[in-house]
Amino acid sequence: MPVKGRLREPSVDLLEHAGFAPDAPDERALAFACAGAPLEVLLVRAADIPEYVQDGAVDCGITGADLVRERGGNVRELLRLDYGHCTLEPAVLIESEVATVEELDGLRVATSYPRLTHELLRDRGVAAELVDVTGSVEVAPRLGLADAIVDLVSSGNTLRTNGLRSLGPLFSSEAVLIGPEEPGSGALQLASVFRSVVDARASRYLMMNAPESALEQICEIVPGSGSPSVIPLSEPGMVAIHALVPAREVWRLLPRLEAAGASSILLVPVERLIT
Ligand code: AMP
Repeated sequence: MPVKGRLREPSVDLLEHAGFAPDAPDERALAFACAGAPLEVLLVRAADIPEYVQDGAVDCGITGADLVRERGGNVRELLRLDYGHCTLEPAVLIESEVATVEELDGLRVATSYPRLTHELLRDRGVAAELVDVTGSVEVAPRLGLADAIVDLVSSGNTLRTNGLRSLGPLFSSEAVLIGPEEPGSGALQLASVFRSVVDARASRYLMMNAPESALEQICEIVPGSGSPSVIPLSEPGMVAIHALVPAREVWRLLPRLEAAGASSILLVPVERLIT
C-alpha cells in the first residue's frame, strides 16, 4: 500500500473496512501484520508498487491506475477501488492560442508521466517533444521550459492557481488493486473481500412503507438489483418495500418515492455486498 500521499489514508480505510486492522497500530511502521488474518501489509511509494508486484516481492498491491500504466509492467488489474479519482490532462497557459490536444503536435510538453503521455498523445495522432520533470510540472510553461503540461487533475484548482487552462482529460485514473499476470489464491481472495466493500460503499439499503396501490409505481422508480422485497404489514392494504439502490441515485429517488406515496422511508449504509 502507498506509504504517503493521497492514496494512503483511503487505502488504510479500505483495509480497516474490510476487517483487517493492524496488529499493533503504529503510524510510522512500514510493515504490519493484521490481527486475525494471514495478511502482512508493506507500505512503500505508490510509484514503486507495480514493480513490487511484477517482481513477486508482494502478492498484490494498491496504487493509482495512472502509475500502473506509466510503469508499464506485467501486472493485472484485479479490482477498481473507487477512490483516488483523477484525470491526466494536458494544459496550456490561459493566454495560449492552443485550443485542442491536436494542436500540441510539435510543441514541448512537460510531464512526470512521459510514457503514458507519449502513448496517449500518439493515440490522438500527436507527436510532441516531451520534457521529463519530476515535480512542480505546472510552473514549466511560465518558466518557458515547455509550451504545455500533462499532469494529474482532480479539482482543477492547481491549474487555475497557476494560470493554466485544461484541454480536456486524456486518461481517467483511480486506485486499483493489482496482482501478477497469474495471481495467487491469496490475491484473488483479497480482491473478492475488497470487492464486497467497494460494492457495499456504492450501495444503500432502502426501506419504506406504502399502500399496495402504489406498489407498481414504486417498483418502477426503484432502480438496481432485481426486484425489491415486498412484505405485508399488519395494517390492511399496506406493504413494506426493501431494495438495494445505487448510492449516487438516492438524492433523485427519495422525493419521487415520497410523491408516489411512500412513507417511513429509511436509508441505511451497507457493510458488505456479495452479488
Ligand atoms: P501522491 O499524492 O502524489 O502520492 O499521488 C499518488 C496517486 O494519487 C497518483 O498517482 C494518483 O493515482 C492519485 N491522485 C488522485 N488525485 C490526484 C491529484 N489531484 N493529483 C495527483 N495525484 C492524484
